[in-house]
Amino acid sequence: MEPVDNRNTKTILVLGGATEGYELARVLNHKQGVHVVSSLAGRTSKPRAPCGEVRSGGFGGSEGLALYLRECSIAAVIDATHPFASVMGWNAARACAAVGVPLLRLERPAWRPQAGDLWTEVEGWDDAVTVLDSGAKRVLLAVGRKELEPFVGLDHIWFLIRSVDAPEPTKVFAQADVLLARGPFTLEGETKLLQNHRIDTIVCKNSGGTATDAKLSAARNLGVRVVIKKRPQRPEVPVVETVEQVQSWVDQVL
Ligand code: NAP
Repeated sequence: MEPVDNRNTKTILVLGGATEGYELARVLNHKQGVHVVSSLAGRTSKPRAPCGEVRSGGFGGSEGLALYLRECSIAAVIDATHPFASVMGWNAARACAAVGVPLLRLERPAWRPQAGDLWTEVEGWDDAVTVLDSGAKRVLLAVGRKELEPFVGLDHIWFLIRSVDAPEPTKVFAQADVLLARGPFTLEGETKLLQNHRIDTIVCKNSGGTATDAKLSAARNLGVRVVIKKRPQRPEVPVVETVEQVQSWVDQVL
């Protein structure tokens, strides 16, 4: 970590990787008396660089993170990882409790079904496979390139696999095309995509936010079915939904 010479400056660790982490780093970076370090998992080949200092790669579980918090004299941690990053939040909760560092979770609200939606909510991808098996023919698979495995073997279904980076095992799909794309996506673009590919079902996660919700509106308008994965369980830590709320919390704890 870069040396911080001002003794009145407090270092805040932002666990990033999702949209909010970038906005948070930008805002905190301008805050007097705060030095912000953003942490990225290092999975994406060309990640956007957050404002301020950035570190990349895992810490080595909760113990590794606890060590890092001590060594770098971290004053507070904001867990701004993606709603479907299911491990990091638990590691942060354990490490912060062990070291006595305040922790806040920044999480955008989940999407909720609206009138006209044809949603099937599932706990896991095995349930999604069962739903697809009962009649889907042309599927937009927007689950992330690392979570394709459960859908391999549905040979009677044609998949349009959309991901930020190229997925590895596409050749094991009997019928699939890959579309590399990063949100935000527009309603017009998503409508055309669903129509051009004659998509009857979308499989996605309940990520929330506005960058990727256009596919849900397009699906509603076109009568396309959506199989949507519920969010994973999280540790009991204080949670806020906006960057402004994080700022108030930072003012209180520092
Ligand atoms: P995860 O299951 O919660 O974490 C797996 C491991 O990756 C953690 O144990 C940790 O390794 C490392 N890690 C995760 N986030 C990190 C961070 N911000 N800084 C340093 N190390 C981190 O997370 P994931 O689902 O694999 O996602 C990885 C990253 O991609 C996350 O930062 C997340 O915000 C982002 N992301 C995830 C999704 C998704 O759908 N899962 C979508 C968009 C973005 P150690 O145990 O070694 O510390």
